Amino acid sequence: MTGSHAARDIDTSKPHSARMYDYYLGGKDHFDVDRHAAERVALAYPGIFVCARENRAFMHRATRVLAREHGIRQWLDIGTGIPTEPNLHQVAQAIVPQARVVYADNDPLVLKYAETLMRSAPEGRTTYIEADANEPDALLNAPELSEVLDLTQPVALSLNALLHFITDAQDPYGLVGRLMGALPSGSALAISHCTPDFDPATWAKVTQIYTSGGTPVQFRSKDDFARFFEGLDLLEPGISVGHRWRPEAGENRPEEEITDATVSLWAGVAIKP
Ligand code: SAH
Repeated sequence: MTGSHAARDIDTSKPHSARMYDYYLGGKDHFDVDRHAAERVALAYPGIFVCARENRAFMHRATRVLAREHGIRQWLDIGTGIPTEPNLHQVAQAIVPQARVVYADNDPLVLKYAETLMRSAPEGRTTYIEADANEPDALLNAPELSEVLDLTQPVALSLNALLHFITDAQDPYGLVGRLMGALPSGSALAISHCTPDFDPATWAKVTQIYTSGGTPVQFRSKDDFARFFEGLDLLEPGISVGHRWRPEAGENRPEEEITDATVSLWAGVAIKP
């Protein structure tokens, strides 16, 4: 895990999803190639900045609700992204300092910043694994994972804004099933996922921008999103547009009225029976 290893692997010849997302969130960890692609997305879909912010806010609320109301003490967060404060472990450890969090992402740039993700509260523990979500067995069997997570106790699997980067050809449903299958009863699944449902023409353009930049994407309908939760018990209020999922668990609600089309994100949290 050295900077030189990361620097060698970072490909700045084409835009990357994690770095485009960093731009949407107002971060500084992206290159010109990412900014140009992100600006094209923003021209087609000006809501992208609100979507990114609300996606992050959903992650915060889902983490709080699972920590406060469902006794979750461990998280596996795949597709973590470039660190953005507060990161998941900071939200969880503000409620339960002993919370343990394993982060995983396949972008070498995230690895470069992994140190930030490993600044755990002393009572808890965090780690970062460079891993591809499409290889769940390698991730589940990684020694770093078992050093931090006890898979005999409930774990929340957090897949925030990840699964739209996994096309049906890559079997995202099988992937989620494999991961949830490795976790015991009482574990949780929290997912957010961009959707074309409220504005198909705009999302066709966004799809085209990502795909032509070399990142295959598949934004899914509500029904296709719901399939990820098959066999699990969805928490109230069920599948919701991102900002409508348990807003009271948030901190600073935006003053302005946000529409479903602006947010264009399905969100849900479920418990494994
Ligand atoms: N979860 C964060 C970041 C979402 S951006 C949040 O919601 O705020 C999507 C992230 O998924 C990026 O960091 C990207 O690098 C990562 N990603 C995309 N495909 C992946 C894969 N196959 N395996 C692991 N990570 C992946």
